[in-house]
Amino acid sequence: MNTKNLEAAADIIRTARRVAGFTGAGISVESGIPPFRGEGGIWSKYDPSLFDIHYFQTQPEKAWELIKEIFYSYFGKAEPNGAHIALARLEVEGKLSCIITQNIDSLHQEAGNTDVVEFHGNSRRLVCLKCSTKLLFTEALFDNMPPRCEECSGILKPDFIFFGEAIPVLAQERALTETRLADVWIVIGTTGTVFPAASIPIMAKQNGSTIIEVNARPSAFTDDITDIFLEGKAAGVMTALIELLYPEDTPAQEE
Ligand code: NAD
Ligand code: ZN
Repeated sequence: MNTKNLEAAADIIRTARRVAGFTGAGISVESGIPPFRGEGGIWSKYDPSLFDIHYFQTQPEKAWELIKEIFYSYFGKAEPNGAHIALARLEVEGKLSCIITQNIDSLHQEAGNTDVVEFHGNSRRLVCLKCSTKLLFTEALFDNMPPRCEECSGILKPDFIFFGEAIPVLAQERALTETRLADVWIVIGTTGTVFPAASIPIMAKQNGSTIIEVNARPSAFTDDITDIFLEGKAAGVMTALIELLYPEDTPAQEE
């Protein structure tokens, strides 16, 4: 990790008026959830077209078998890691206003963040395709495949965005507003290639924000919009950043 960059990032956060977070699959990798793209990514094993809304609508049972295998095996066991916890700490300190996340895993909320804008929805909620009722996921729903709505017996779909579906309007509006409000953005673990989500940090930059980026490797943002690039795994980098910002937390070395 480049300590000069880390110190520069800490300085920027210290003097920031309002910090926002923008996160992607990379922040949850150390919680045991694989990303979509790259080595070990979900797309290296599964065909992305199986997550198209038209496939779900026409073959719900087959689509659900796959969704169950991928999402409800990894996601159920995952817990927040140091990077999620660091963002929660920044909120407690009154620094972080909100997190715009592309993730669907609820780990930011579990870490304690109270203002999380889910750009791509959430895997722990299901929605009925017929009556739009929303409900929380329980294992019992898998007793029938595909899971069905208790109210109207319509087919239930995970309440996250499939290819071919629109971004939730409220999330989009909220994210856009934040691009005008926050003066510093911490962008963590995202390739910057999934649009329209990737346009959020780009717009923030156009509106004059400073962009601090944390990623295991350079992303599409790094050369174009990133001001300070913190290369490394999210949990380690973010924990080190918190230690610099709040050194009183670090136990003094015994003589
Ligand atoms: P991505 O899968 O395209 O890319 C992951 C990014 O994280 C890469 O840039 C990679 O270099 C970086 N990365 C990997 N391990 C890291 C680590 N330990 N620390 C820091 N960075 C690391 O992710 P994306 O661009 O966010 O995009 C895709 C979509 O995938 C999102 O819309 C999201 O909905 C969905 N997704 C969500 C989850 C989740 O909820 N946890 C998991 C997989 C995919
Ligand atoms: Zn229903």
